[in-house]
Amino acid sequence: MNVDTDSVKNILYLLASVLFILGIKGLTHPRTAVRGNLLGAAGMLLAIVVTMVGSDHLGWLIAGLVVGGLCGIVAAYKIEMTGMPQLVALFNGFGGIASALVAGAVLHDYLDKAGDTGLVQWLTAEGQDPTQVIIATIASGIIGAVTFSGSVLAFAKLQQLVSSASNTNPLLKVGNVLCTIVAVGLGVVLFMNPDMAGLYWVIVLVSLALGLFLVLPIGGADMPVVITLLNSYSGIAAAATGFVINNTVLIVAGSLVGASGLILTRIMCVAMNRSLTNVLFGVMAEVGEGPSSDEVYAGKVKSASPDEVAMLFDGARRVLIVPGYGMAAAQAQHVVSDLADLLMAKGIDVEYGIHPVAGRMPGHMNVLLAEADVPYDLLKEMDDVNTTIEQVDVALVIGANDTVNPSARTDPSSPIAGMPIIDVDKARTVVVVKRSLSPGFAGIPNPLFACDNTLMLFGDGKKVIGELIAAIKEAG
Ligand code: NDP
Repeated sequence: MNVDTDSVKNILYLLASVLFILGIKGLTHPRTAVRGNLLGAAGMLLAIVVTMVGSDHLGWLIAGLVVGGLCGIVAAYKIEMTGMPQLVALFNGFGGIASALVAGAVLHDYLDKAGDTGLVQWLTAEGQDPTQVIIATIASGIIGAVTFSGSVLAFAKLQQLVSSASNTNPLLKVGNVLCTIVAVGLGVVLFMNPDMAGLYWVIVLVSLALGLFLVLPIGGADMPVVITLLNSYSGIAAAATGFVINNTVLIVAGSLVGASGLILTRIMCVAMNRSLTNVLFGVMAEVGEGPSSDEVYAGKVKSASPDEVAMLFDGARRVLIVPGYGMAAAQAQHVVSDLADLLMAKGIDVEYGIHPVAGRMPGHMNVLLAEADVPYDLLKEMDDVNTTIEQVDVALVIGANDTVNPSARTDPSSPIAGMPIIDVDKARTVVVVKRSLSPGFAGIPNPLFACDNTLMLFGDGKKVIGELIAAIKEAG
């Protein structure tokens, strides 16, 4: 039987695509997540190996595989859990720029091969659709470059290398609109004159500027949406490049990333009660300066010692633990889980309230608590805990700030106005564990710390919870 290599390759690509889909399905539940991850990685390895078979550039491909693999291994070992969002932002950016560079390189390659024939005629003679190839190349250049510069800026904001605050300077909007018009306009010119390869790189440069103008205005609590959106863009750029090089598995993988990124972006927008247009175009007009820390806290904050807090648990029947970024920063998940075990052993009902944007990446708290072997059924979503929060005797907030800030509910001029929060201020008693009265990611004071029913337990999350465990044990 005569076996056609292309058909075999396409079947194996299809198998890799099925592995990606099964991998994503596995990631929908913590119990199957590890298997899902392995299935996705196996699909990627299969796709790379199939691409390598019969390639004229085997040396380059192996070098890429080794260098890329090494970078991935080093990053996985070195990056702290708290640095994950920055890493994800960078990886999105690398995906974007890789797509733009590949599309540009292929355009040059095709032009070299076309010679005097002209690109359109040559592509047609080769059995390719020139319209598809040229439009996909332009799309890949624009979206890939926007993803790269936007992601690098998002990385710098999350790493606090540049201010992470929102920027409402109207010049940014002008830059945004101008770059969009120029990039798309030049794209149309390139489409009409596809032999002008130099124009492609001008489009890439303008799109790099566009990425900066897109992400510069966005900041504060809107950053999760930016990261998921850039993730989606990196997928769309990859899918476009798949159309340029006619690679089915790249089209499928890119579409999967693009679609799942968009779904996550929508989930994040709903979680923060923001529309995507508001996030992207920085609709902040109604936002005022807000009260200063002094106005909110002066003379109203009560601090307590671990011994005093330990006594609160004596008469408690229901305890809600609300973790946030500070738990990740302190790496306190294991002691928090020990505390929960201790309280449950005393017959107290303990649950965890998980806010969808707590921490610095989607699912951050779930991952940390899973690492500490916290049973998944103890993790409750924000809407579920809010309905019965009045019956909670002690709400123990560990390193959460913006996600429990009642001004989101009560102050329409707050930068986080309208963002759903976990209503811990409605619990009978609130204990907040953090090191100081410093603000959270959104950079605003939190009236929760000055509430009558709130006690502040100041100190590093891991250390303080350890002391609290010792105090509870000592009190018997
Ligand atoms: P916040 O960022 O609002 O607050 C974290 C708090 O943790 C700080 O106030 C800090 O106070 C405290 N903290 C830091 N280190 C420690 C430590 N070692 N021990 C104890 N406490 C510590 O956290 P939230 O989780 O409530 O909110 C997340 C914010 O991040 C939201 O605004 C969200 O929009 C944003 N964001 C979320 C992303 C996501 O995908 N989840 C991505 C990007 C941004 P102190 O310094 O006084 O200790």
